[in-house]
Amino acid sequence: MILAHKIALDPNDRPETYFRKAAGTARFAYNWALAEWQRQYAVWKADPTGSNPSDPALCKQLNAIKGDPFPWMLEITKNAPQMAIMYLGRAFKNWFAGIAEYLTFKKKGRHDSLALTNDQVTVKGHKVHIPNLGSVRMHESLRFVGKVLDGTISWTADHWFLSVTVEMPDPPSIRRENQAVVGVDLGISALATLSTGEKIGGPQAYAAAQKDLRRLSQQFSRQLEAAKVRAGLEPGQPIPKGMHLAWSKHMVKTQRRRARLHARVANIRADALHQLTTDLVEQFDVIAIEDLNVAGMLKNHRLARAMADMSFGEFRRQLESKAAQRGKTVVVVNRWYPSSKICSACGYKMPKMPLAVREWTCPQCQTHHDRDINAAIHVRIVAESSVRSSSPVSA
Ligand SMILES: [Zn+2]
Repeated sequence: MILAHKIALDPNDRPETYFRKAAGTARFAYNWALAEWQRQYAVWKADPTGSNPSDPALCKQLNAIKGDPFPWMLEITKNAPQMAIMYLGRAFKNWFAGIAEYLTFKKKGRHDSLALTNDQVTVKGHKVHIPNLGSVRMHESLRFVGKVLDGTISWTADHWFLSVTVEMPDPPSIRRENQAVVGVDLGISALATLSTGEKIGGPQAYAAAQKDLRRLSQQFSRQLEAAKVRAGLEPGQPIPKGMHLAWSKHMVKTQRRRARLHARVANIRADALHQLTTDLVEQFDVIAIEDLNVAGMLKNHRLARAMADMSFGEFRRQLESKAAQRGKTVVVVNRWYPSSKICSACGYKMPKMPLAVREWTCPQCQTHHDRDINAAIHVRIVAESSVRSSSPVSA
């Protein structure tokens, strides 16, 4: 089982400069190798007696010439360009296999990153050690214990992050009697509702950050309109193709704050999801969730915002990997099962259940339901019956 953990770094000046240089070198190597690959491929197509381009050959080629036209490459661990070219080879393979888009050249800035092999990344407590550079502080320690496969240092918004992939032994599968089963309803009003009646809300910091984000977006739109007017355009008029609109200092500042806040919102959400999935696998043996067709539901506009916010796909991925680590079971209930329409007490099926209805009373047994708790109980009931039917019969 391979897991990844992304941790924020606290680099001071020296690592910061090194990361920038190394990420620049990795980007340069990638772009150089992509251009060279395309050139060699065209030659090979015209005359297939020669050799097809490959990432090891390109690595060797760049290594042989780098000191002369590109002396600045010598300042950086050779791992950085090597890994970049290896990833290029992998991306080409995916493209040939038809599972990825054609490759494009990397631009400076937003997604700067540098990948390192496991011998270049030593994680100990709250520090990561990188040869030629030294130790860099991490915001938290590595969550998984196992063999480190590789590490990627990347720039997001205004922070450097280290993402470490770790290989862990697969845990034995345990099946106990009297397993604690919980049904989970992922929701719009709460992050999750459990069949135990517990509601887990999204963090308050998240709502506050979202509000700030909306305010900054509005502020940016106003500043953009003002810049357009200064450039002689009508208010609301789209920027003509090819025209370069000069950004004011205020716009640059707003945009930077917005990027920082976006990253913060993403971090809060990620933390809340990790907390929820960890709690679930620690408390219960069997966790039942609905198989929500996320892509399909995102087409439904009313749900889209809330769905995207709650990262359901990521929720399921985390839950499954954490359950696997602890020998717990995740049961995925068929997505077409109308769990919110069926009374969990008597099985009566309501003909209609609009999303706006948060509470209802069953016309058959008079049980009063909270919509989400009822749905969560239903998911649990369906999961219990499927776990029972798949358990070995004991004598
Ligand atoms: Zn009922």
